[in-house]
Parts: sequence; structure tokens; C-alpha cells
Amino acid sequence: MPRVFIPAQFLNHEQVTLDRVASRHLVKVLRLQAGAEVCVFDGCGTEIEGHIVRASTAGVELALGQRHRVPMPLASITLLQSVPRGDRMDIIVQKTTELGVTRIVPVLSSRGMVKPPPGKTRRWRTIAQEAARQSGRADVPEVAEVTALDAALAGSAEAGGTRLVLWEEERALPLRRIFAQAPPLPVTLLVGPEGGFSQEEVASARAQGFRTVGLGPRILRVETAALVAIALTQAAVGGLD
Ligand code: SAH
Repeated sequence: MPRVFIPAQFLNHEQVTLDRVASRHLVKVLRLQAGAEVCVFDGCGTEIEGHIVRASTAGVELALGQRHRVPMPLASITLLQSVPRGDRMDIIVQKTTELGVTRIVPVLSSRGMVKPPPGKTRRWRTIAQEAARQSGRADVPEVAEVTALDAALAGSAEAGGTRLVLWEEERALPLRRIFAQAPPLPVTLLVGPEGGFSQEEVASARAQGFRTVGLGPRILRVETAALVAIALTQAAVGGLD
């Protein structure tokens, strides 16, 4: 059944009118007509049975019926991702959403992108919504505003739990070993940009209570490192069962 994302604040009534983008998608691309059933999700874990009352590219009207709470992810996983150059962040947001990440914080560090062009955060949020829709999530991971590394480190210190920085020079402690026992939750993972972290940045992370962990002897591309780290974490907390 087609899935439509509508933020929770617009779902307080028995009907809702979709914006132009969503309306065009349902009417022009999927060719749905009045009476067609759709599944609405609110980004916070609720799905609502809906059907089209009026099919119009200007604004599809949906009637809303039964509401269902969908089980939320077992563990909260935050990805602090140093923004790489180019469009690689797009793929990281898309794939980690599919894998069940809870929160993504785009981080600025010394060897990564200096300042993302305007509109990037909005773009990443749209990608997260679309990946949630496509992968059948009823929640949408939060994409935070772009944050300086120091602020991101300090912020995650308050969250506590398991805080790890992926570092290619860490050979003694593989990520897998952290997960030999159930890790204290929430889990926060910090992944570097294509230029890696400087020694000072690794030291700051450690000073804030992060442990350095490795993913084996090969240098992984940023996006590979992020996906592997999220996948291993999910496997450890039962999120892939
Ligand atoms: N500075 C390095 C490569 C950085 S790879 C160089 O150019 O040689 C980009 C990011 O992916 C790193 O900052 C790290 O967070 C992660 N990463 C890549 N390979 C890794 C590995 N084998 N173990 C742990 N983290 C890794």
C-alpha cells in the first residue's frame, strides 16, 4: 500500500489535505483515484489507515481512520557524522535510516567540509523522510542542525551510554569487542570525514568520554565506515532480528 509521510501536527483531524509534492506523487505517479487506500505515518511511530476522498494534483484530500502505534526501535543510536565533501552525506542519511538510526548529527571537523551550502539540512531531512517511507519505518530519524565537533561531543556527554569514535588507527579495540556484552544505551557513534580526525580531535573525544574503536586493518570510505558501524551496533542490540 502507498505510504505517505505527514508530520504529526497536521493529523489532529479526521481529514487532511496533502501538499502539492505529495499530491502529485499520488495522483500523477501512482495514478491513485478517490477511494484508494493509503498508509499515513506521522514520523513519531504512528501509522494511520487513510483513503483518498478527493484526488487532485493541487491537494489530495485524505480521510483518516484507525491509528496504530508501530513498535519503536529497541535502542537509540545516534550517528555523529563529520560531513564529507560532495554528496556522500546523502547516502549516509539514506542508508543509516534504512538500518534504523535514531538521530543523525552532521558535524563539522577540521578535515571535512568547512561549511555545507545552505539548504543541506533540509535536503538531508527530506532524504530521511523518504528513506523512512520506503523502508516501512513509522518514525523518521531526527537530522540535527550542523554542529561544531566540540559542541557535538559535549552534547553527547550528557546523553551518557556507550560513546565511540571510529578511528582507523585504533588496532587494539575492534568495535565488535565493545558489543561482546550488551552495551549500555543509548549508543553514540562518531565517524570522521574523508581526511580523518586530527590527533587533537581524537584527544578531545576521549576527554569527553568517547572510546576509540577500529573496524579492521583496511581504511574504509566514510560512508562504508558509517554503515558498517550502524549495522554492527544494530546487530548487537537486536535491531536486525
Ligand atoms: N584519514 C584516513 C582515512 C579516514 S577514513 C586516511 O586518509 O588515511 C574516514 C573515516 O572513516 C575515519 O575518520 C573513521 O571514522 C572511519 N574509518 C575508516 N576506516 C576505519 C577503520 N579501519 N577503523 C575505524 N574507523 C575507520
